[in-house]
Amino acid sequence: MSALAAVALSLLKPSDHVLLGQPLYGRSHLLFAQEMTRWGVTAQSISACDLDAWSAALALKPRLAIVETITNPRMSVPDLRAISQRCKGSGTLLLVDNTFATPVLCQPLVWGADLVMESLSKFVCGHSDAMLGMLCGKAHAWDRIESTVSTYGLASSPLDCWLTRRGLTTLPLRMERASKNAMLLAQALMDHPRVALVDYPGLPAHPHHRIAETQFGGSFGNMLTVHLKLESAVNHSTRLADRWIQRLDPDIPFCPSLGETQTTLSHPVSTSHRSLSAIQQKELGISNETVRISCGIEEGEWLCRRLIEALDAFD
Ligand SMILES: *Cc1c(COP(=O)(O)O)cnc(C)c1O
Repeated sequence: MSALAAVALSLLKPSDHVLLGQPLYGRSHLLFAQEMTRWGVTAQSISACDLDAWSAALALKPRLAIVETITNPRMSVPDLRAISQRCKGSGTLLLVDNTFATPVLCQPLVWGADLVMESLSKFVCGHSDAMLGMLCGKAHAWDRIESTVSTYGLASSPLDCWLTRRGLTTLPLRMERASKNAMLLAQALMDHPRVALVDYPGLPAHPHHRIAETQFGGSFGNMLTVHLKLESAVNHSTRLADRWIQRLDPDIPFCPSLGETQTTLSHPVSTSHRSLSAIQQKELGISNETVRISCGIEEGEWLCRRLIEALDAFD
């Protein structure tokens, strides 16, 4: 979040307008839609994958637009090239949060972004023991960034840098394995009678599969979301998703963060997306029975078997 704060503090001034390609990480949304409005900046949300909405909103010539390479928790994949072309037309700087994709899958500067930020605390560090962010960008967007980082005290801790540098040495290997696991799991879960839908850009049925194929070069990342069927059976006081998560503990732990070497699960409506209203959750397509999975680097067959057996076990 320091990386994003550095962008806000370097590039924006009162009366500037910011475009937020939704869904965005909750804190990113708050930074621009609440904090920066106190500084006289205005913010507008649009759907990240709606190119007509981008064209219409860019007519207001926003200073900055923000979008994520793979959004949470539905794993939408906005078309970065189309968005960056539109941003160039209106003189808008495009910042891409590349946390879910990592530079192994996608390098947004190649697709026309001006700035890229990543939470290295997640997959890049990979061991959940550092808190660090990265920002990189093209020269025309970079002028004030370094000075802002020093002036506002946003500099990184040496220990976190050291830990993350260790993570970098295995990043491509971990990403390869975790992406393979995610694909295996997506395919296995998709066919399960208790599963209504799996969101994974690697599945041909995913609405942005073709864009993901082009932008990510044939790999689709380690993140997927599973929507279990809303239980028709009566007399269950606990949700199926809760029971599934409990049954997987401690092999596959519940954890609101992501990008560990170990596979972890999260429950968006009670964690990352709990501040959304019921209507907003419904619009986003998430429910009590939605479980997000961050695949790790375990043996793939074991992982599938463990998750499927735990689902099979309900009567
Ligand atoms: C976690 C996360 C962040 C914030 O990163 P921190 O390292 O916690 O500051 C920003 N964007 C996305 C997509 C994230 O998942």
